[in-house]
Amino acid sequence: MSALDSLTLTEIPPEDEALRAPVRAFLAEALKDVPAHVRAKSWSGYDPAFSRKLGAQGWLGITLPPAYGGGGRSAFARYVLVEEFLNWGAPVGSHWIADRQSAPLILRYGTEAQKQRYVPPICRGESYFCIGMSEPGAGSDLASVRTRATPNGTGWLLNGQKIWTTNAHHCSHMIALVRTSGAPEDRQKGLSQLIVDLKAPGVRVRPITDQSGDAHFCEVFFDNVQLDPDALVGAEGKGWEQVNAELAFERSGPERLFSSIVLFDQWATWVRQDGRTPAAERLAGRIVCALAPLRAMSVAVTERLTRGESPLVEAALVKDLGTGVEQLIPAAIADDLFSRPEGSVPLGLLQTLDYVTQVAPSFSLRGGTREILRGMIARGLGLR
Ligand SMILES: Cc1cc2nc3c(=O)[nH]c(=O)nc-3n(C[C@H](O)[C@H](O)[C@H](O)COP(=O)(O)OP(=O)(O)OC[C@H]3O[C@@H](n4cnc5c(N)ncnc54)[C@H](O)[C@@H]3O)c2cc1C
Repeated sequence: MSALDSLTLTEIPPEDEALRAPVRAFLAEALKDVPAHVRAKSWSGYDPAFSRKLGAQGWLGITLPPAYGGGGRSAFARYVLVEEFLNWGAPVGSHWIADRQSAPLILRYGTEAQKQRYVPPICRGESYFCIGMSEPGAGSDLASVRTRATPNGTGWLLNGQKIWTTNAHHCSHMIALVRTSGAPEDRQKGLSQLIVDLKAPGVRVRPITDQSGDAHFCEVFFDNVQLDPDALVGAEGKGWEQVNAELAFERSGPERLFSSIVLFDQWATWVRQDGRTPAAERLAGRIVCALAPLRAMSVAVTERLTRGESPLVEAALVKDLGTGVEQLIPAAIADDLFSRPEGSVPLGLLQTLDYVTQVAPSFSLRGGTREILRGMIARGLGLR
């Protein structure tokens, strides 16, 4: 039996589906004046005021315990919220990582003091976290991280560098995977996770501009940064296991299927109204037929997460297939639009296509590259 035999189809329970109506009403009003090419940024879009509004609605930290400001609901409730945020192209980038994985990680591995300090502001949409895994020379090969935290009399002394850190320039904290003992050759052994206050002396954050012109990720340098003893989250030397548990949350959600959905929606609306052709109808069918089973798989992984499991291989499968569809959408829509008479396509649709086309190559890099995921899937199937 392979690891994938355990992915069974699941329906979202009605009490969680019931969240859709109020969320849709809220988003329809909040986003009514935002053009599609801006909404297309969605979980890359930084808007702290919007995050705070979601926090006030009780829509952040919805799976987290009420004792820490959360909603005490299931992962399905979060699935519905996230699906709606992405479908509407809500600017959810500020709180995205904190809500998806930092707060659950702190709840699972953190001390009581860490939970009380960090989780309530995340649920209010006031505190943003970033993921400090990748380094120059340690991206796919994460076990070779060189950033080091050395215990000293007053806590940990941190030195090294992270790269590609999404939103580091906007975040208050990073959860960093660092070496706390041994040498880089020791690989997974001796790695730990530390909560780094990005305002601490010795931290320097330098944004990197991508080809779309946005600077959403950064280099982060640590030069003798003094961290308190309680910066360590979880057990020393257990960073590798903790990071892997986090990755199932990172790779299985609707954001790995819907990065091009605002473009698809805008194109499909225009096709329906003014641009109907047999070829466009076939393309719409092809995209929907690709998305529907993947969404069912993503929901099925969520069901495993609700049972407290860590379905890493299944999450890798959803992400690999999902990002393939996310990249197909702009390429196929470009083929359709550029086969039409000049001047017949609305400018707004071309603007959205332009943005999504420029960011689409990153879909199969961020969160683990296609080749790495396929290696994991092959191992899960017993093929390597
Ligand atoms: C938009 C975006 C946001 C990101 N945000 C974050 C973030 O917030 N935090 C963070 O820590 N990182 C982040 N990353 C970094 C991302 O996780 C890494 O880019 C990714 O893991 C690949 O690492 P790398 O860039 O070092 O490439 P490399 O590891 O150097 O890989 C280069 C190429 O070689 C292939 N390759 C590497 N090893 C193998 C192998 N063993 N077998 C087959 N092929 C292989 C890869 O698939 C890839 O095609 C982000 C990246 C992007 C694009």
